[in-house]
Amino acid sequence: AYPAGPNPLSLSLAPPGRPTLTASSSPLPRPRERGDRRRRARRGLPTHPTTPPAKMFGRAPKKSDNTKYYEVLGVPKNAAQDDLKKAYRKAAIKNHPDKGGDPEKFKELAQAYEVLSDPEKREIYDQYGEDALKEGMGGGGGGGVDPFDIFSSFFGPSFGGGGGGSSRGRRQRRGEDVVHPLKASLEDLYNGTSKKLSLSRSVLCSKCKGKGSKSGASMRCPGCQGSGMKVTIRQLGPSMIQQMQQACNDCKGTGESINDKDRCPGCKGEKVLQEKKVLEVHVEKGMQHNQKITFPGEADEAPDTVTGDIVFVVQQKEHPKFKRKGDDLFYEHTISLTEALCGFQLVLTHLDNRQLLIKSNPGEVVKPGMAS
Ligand SMILES: [Zn+2]
Ligand SMILES: [Zn+2]
Repeated sequence: AYPAGPNPLSLSLAPPGRPTLTASSSPLPRPRERGDRRRRARRGLPTHPTTPPAKMFGRAPKKSDNTKYYEVLGVPKNAAQDDLKKAYRKAAIKNHPDKGGDPEKFKELAQAYEVLSDPEKREIYDQYGEDALKEGMGGGGGGGVDPFDIFSSFFGPSFGGGGGGSSRGRRQRRGEDVVHPLKASLEDLYNGTSKKLSLSRSVLCSKCKGKGSKSGASMRCPGCQGSGMKVTIRQLGPSMIQQMQQACNDCKGTGESINDKDRCPGCKGEKVLQEKKVLEVHVEKGMQHNQKITFPGEADEAPDTVTGDIVFVVQQKEHPKFKRKGDDLFYEHTISLTEALCGFQLVLTHLDNRQLLIKSNPGEVVKPGMAS
């Protein structure tokens, strides 16, 4: 009645709801929640806390006005993201200072949109009001918004025409995040580990503080008159011309040039230097494939730029013996027909080097694919 030859037998370690053959086999511990990590990242804390998150926020804030932002945008409190976008877009065009609008109103719109378009900030705002965001709970939602940046994200930087960009002075751009894969074995993910990784990054030159010149002064780039862009006009036909805008080669789009004599000797006018940095990445017990570990503000530095994050993405390596499904581990073992009929036992080395004794129940016939 039973097929001859060895039978494959699937043994699951700690299957949900069923007792295990052996005494001590535990599922992988659960990782912390993502929201907590993000909140920590914004406050510049390591994203894998060693102490449990006590409370969502440090102290219980008092309730303040939480309807103003909706009124500014002219939307109901339950407005969907799309409605917010539409409302902001319409109002922002009308109130853009370059089109004769009121700068205060323009700023208000940006602030309202910035908060309400971010689900986390919106939740804080709905619950505790504007003051809570100003106290930094939402990560600088209060004053740090540049209304023009938000506007540009909708309409592109060229709106407003005629060199408007440079007339407003330097705004803080956000630098790009640097993403690295981080290979981790099942043992690493089960037991937790830390890995030291050496990375090369750009840092602002400390000699010139990122100015590129000894005096700190820079001249307008003669190639582009300081706009950072060069416009080339091509004649396509008798009455057709094509106008193209490109970043200026001479100044790499920065709009400034540095006098040869004034050039910083540290960075040769480049403003940044390459630096080797060793980061210690903590892989927490139970981390999942594709889970992110963020080092806020550790990406490449650049002048007038808010430094982006370095993000490691956990890549779980294949294991020769164990397969992982969620928080469960599976181990496949082949037994002979005799063992299937008469019983068997095997010693299994777990991911933390524990020796587990797996035994079939007396008198039970083991069938192929059976899980214990
Ligand atoms: Zn230039
Ligand atoms: Zn320098």
